[in-house]
Amino acid sequence: MAETTTYDVVIIGGGPGGYNAAIRAGQLGLKAACVESRGTLGGTCLNVGCMPSKALLHASELYAAAGNEFAKLGIEVQPKLNLGQMMQQKADSVGQLTKGIEFLFKKNKVDWVRGKGRIAGAGKVEVTAEDGAVTTLQAKNIVIATGSEPSTLPGVTVDQQRIVDSTGALSLPEVPKHLIVIGAGIIGLELGSVWRRLGAKVTVVEYLDRITPGMDAEVAKTFQRSLTKQGFEFKLGAKVTGAKASKKGVTLTYEPVAGGAAETLEGDYVLLAIGRRPYTDGLGLESVGITPDKRGFIPTDHFRTSAEGVWAIGDVILGPMLAHKAEEDGVACIEMIAKGYGHVDYNLVPSVVYTAPEVAWVGKTEEQLKEEGRAYKAGKFPFTANSRAKINHETEGFVKVLADAATDEILGVHMIGPHVSEMVGEYCVAMAFRAASEDVARTCHPHPTRSEALRQAAMGVEGWTMQA
Ligand code: FAD
Repeated sequence: MAETTTYDVVIIGGGPGGYNAAIRAGQLGLKAACVESRGTLGGTCLNVGCMPSKALLHASELYAAAGNEFAKLGIEVQPKLNLGQMMQQKADSVGQLTKGIEFLFKKNKVDWVRGKGRIAGAGKVEVTAEDGAVTTLQAKNIVIATGSEPSTLPGVTVDQQRIVDSTGALSLPEVPKHLIVIGAGIIGLELGSVWRRLGAKVTVVEYLDRITPGMDAEVAKTFQRSLTKQGFEFKLGAKVTGAKASKKGVTLTYEPVAGGAAETLEGDYVLLAIGRRPYTDGLGLESVGITPDKRGFIPTDHFRTSAEGVWAIGDVILGPMLAHKAEEDGVACIEMIAKGYGHVDYNLVPSVVYTAPEVAWVGKTEEQLKEEGRAYKAGKFPFTANSRAKINHETEGFVKVLADAATDEILGVHMIGPHVSEMVGEYCVAMAFRAASEDVARTCHPHPTRSEALRQAAMGVEGWTMQA
């Protein structure tokens, strides 16, 4: 067993939490190592999450547009799907991104220690390489950034052949005739969209009586209507009880949550997408006395765990399971270690669904404000009244701004429509500066752009929307 030099910080996990922490540590002059067992850096996000899913969403959106919308613009084409090439371009882009992290590690003098990390008592991380060789790293600080894995469901065994999780759904060998998605959350709807656009019939089975819990209810309703128009079928309030796979397909059984007879669905693939759970297998938490909570999350207070010198960030701790949240955690945690202070405003972590239309929001929903008993005013602006959206034939959706009734401070912004993922950041900045809706309403926006809808919705809070 080899012993190595002492590190200021050893980070276990090379996803958005871990790699951003490692790079920030290098920038701040800390001697840092990042332990990652996967063959590439970037974690779930770069390898089997955000990036490959967005590659397929982009390609499949263009394919569907070529088949449906191009003709309206006077472009007549007959698109032909080359699924192999679509998958290859996805893999090529992912490869470039993961190599980019390796480059940043070198640039910031971060050591990538390849292998599975295990905490072996205070200040010690044991790394087992693929060939079985074990190295012990000495660490003044250990940061746990081991992320998450797909949640499982009794009676539904993922075989990555017929019954797949999100990783399998990113690499299906053919377009399903009928894809059954268990779970109407963001991941299920994004991946369902990919295959729907490529020609699959898609049925979504969801336990709750609504889609996308956590999303503003008015937006979620509009979103469901839009997906239904695109051909999605929804079975809401339906509890999946089992899935049986054969060589040719899958039989799924479910029963109404409200009670009633069990029903079956036949599909050729099933995607299980009911959420993710923290991943801490074989991490040696017991060696430093850390006990995960009931759902498997590592309890923290400003990233400090119950063990001296051990910190945790990203999907493995409470909070939205999002790459940009993990990234914020990583930077703030390292700044806590290096400088004694670091900060993340969890109210300002935006959420996005990268479907068409896209959905994006930040801050409180109307339901949350009502529950808190906070008086608020709402301004709303539809994309049908936005000139750029109109000219581009992309008029679905709206922007809604919620502001405090007394102070006018912006409390939440909810948007569904074209390219709103690129627009929500404006409100993140405004809200970080605790802007009033009038601040946005009185800020000149370029014409003609979809971003004018952001301003018009803010103007709507005081009832002086103008654009038509
Ligand atoms: P992870 O990215 O999960 O990284 C953890 C890493 O730790 C992994 O690489 C793992 O191999 C490694 N590891 C674990 N244990 C050990 C160990 N003991 N030793 C060594 N290495 C270990 N989020 C967004 O913000 N936007 C999106 O569009 C988006 N799309 C998504 C689409 C899909 C299909 C999925 C599945 C997720 C998506 N997410 C998205 C969520 C996002 O991927 C995660 O929130 C993010 O990756 C969490 O980062 P993390 O660093 O906490 O963990």
